[in-house]
Amino acid sequence: MSSTPKEITIIGGGIIGCCTAYFLTRHSSYSPEAHRITLLEASSSSAGGRTPDSITDPATLADPTTASKKNPSHEGIAGGASGKAGGLLALWAFPSNIVPLSFRLHDELAKEHDGDKRWGYRRCHASQVECRARLPSGFEGAKNVGGVESASSGAESGSKGLHKDHKKDNKALRKLGVPEDLDWLDTEEALGAYQGMGNPENTAQVHPELFTRSMAQLAEDRGVKIVTGARVTSINKTADGKGVESVTYVKDDKEESLPTTDCVIAAGPWTRRLLPEIPVTAARAHSVVIKTPRPVSAYALFTEIRLPTGFPTPTAANSRGTPAAQRPLRGAQIVEPEIYARPDGTAYACGPTDTVAELPLTTADVEVDAARCQDILYQVGGISDELGRDGQVLAKQACYLPQGGPWIGEVPDTKGLVVAAGHTCWGIQNAPATGKLVSEIILEGKAKSAKLGGCNPSLVL
Ligand SMILES: Cc1cc2nc3c(=O)[nH]c(=O)nc-3n(C[C@H](O)[C@H](O)[C@H](O)COP(=O)(O)OP(=O)(O)OC[C@H]3O[C@@H](n4cnc5c(N)ncnc54)[C@H](O)[C@@H]3O)c2cc1C
Repeated sequence: MSSTPKEITIIGGGIIGCCTAYFLTRHSSYSPEAHRITLLEASSSSAGGRTPDSITDPATLADPTTASKKNPSHEGIAGGASGKAGGLLALWAFPSNIVPLSFRLHDELAKEHDGDKRWGYRRCHASQVECRARLPSGFEGAKNVGGVESASSGAESGSKGLHKDHKKDNKALRKLGVPEDLDWLDTEEALGAYQGMGNPENTAQVHPELFTRSMAQLAEDRGVKIVTGARVTSINKTADGKGVESVTYVKDDKEESLPTTDCVIAAGPWTRRLLPEIPVTAARAHSVVIKTPRPVSAYALFTEIRLPTGFPTPTAANSRGTPAAQRPLRGAQIVEPEIYARPDGTAYACGPTDTVAELPLTTADVEVDAARCQDILYQVGGISDELGRDGQVLAKQACYLPQGGPWIGEVPDTKGLVVAAGHTCWGIQNAPATGKLVSEIILEGKAKSAKLGGCNPSLVL
């Protein structure tokens, strides 16, 4: 156990940095008198990566008396993927060496801090569905543009009546093995196949922005200093090059230096800009939040949606969205948006990654391509009136998915330099375990609660 006073600097105010701050303050050998912990977050606004007509605070949707409040001095926290992810947690996620610990910690955190009310924690189902989308309003005339689709011409003619005449037929859904409470996929024509993937025993969800914000607040309550608008430009080593001495950052155009004995790099997709030797890459992804006319049942749906001829053409992965993106398709196309029902009366849906816009300087500068958000809206609206015709779009957004890890552990050859980044599509699920393991590495000298295995850069790189 470490009794030596430490000056710990965490770089990054996403879910990984905030969970690290939280678990450091819960470690048995932490004391605010002995250890100083500072979290530096580059952005001073969490509004980046959302279109101007999006809501700015998702907490306003949940019960305002219990949901995690936005702390004005924390503006910038969760401004990236940690505020714009789906929020699915699963025992069947990866990597298997940290998933069980993290799934359990999510449950314990929710029990200890009223996570159900504060950040929308609940158990849920996860399923895979194969659907066929109906043409959106305004595109019905486009179905005869010609093309290769022929196999489902019967189904195509059945999809033209968009609204009232597409009543749910629960009997037909059950025939496919669809649970009765999954009653927000519109038509019997829409659904081709159903397969359960996870159930409330092994699957759960959080609202990622509210969860991250709560971790930041709970850490601050126990002595962590949170500084937003502070972009780290270098990590400075001791004269012998074997340890960390300080961190340099820019805030309000002024350069500042922070003495540091232990530095945690939790900069998500930006990690490589500070640590080129850690192979973390970044890919932009778009998502939308829709207020549904009634709260929809607790399912995360991994879809495979067949878009028929005449459907608005999805924006290509390698080109910017333009009005041309809405040209009618000349043949069928399969798309796979993910849909997550949330307990606050909304549903979240995300689309594929693209390769068009390079990672900008901060989360505040993330460019949103409205056409890609519209693609997702057309697609999910094509299989559910709740998400389409009857839903209200609350947010259109983009963020960068960190890929290549997760990397958790000491960076080779530099004492006190720890990386926690590259968490791929399971960073929300794996954040509590990451924070706990990093707290052990810093305050006990090694990870105790789980094996780092292939996540450990000292072993692998
Ligand atoms: C569309 C989408 C859906 C997803 N859905 C899920 C899901 O359902 N379940 C799940 O488990 N995971 C999901 N994920 C993955 C998850 O969102 C990420 O793995 C996770 O948010 C990464 O957290 P992070 O803290 O490492 O990175 P980020 O959230 O990107 O945070 C990094 C922070 O570091 C800051 N920073 C960067 N450089 C500096 C610097 N030099 N100085 C100071 N600060 C800096 C940034 O400003 C940023 O705030 C999803 C991701 C995407 C894109």
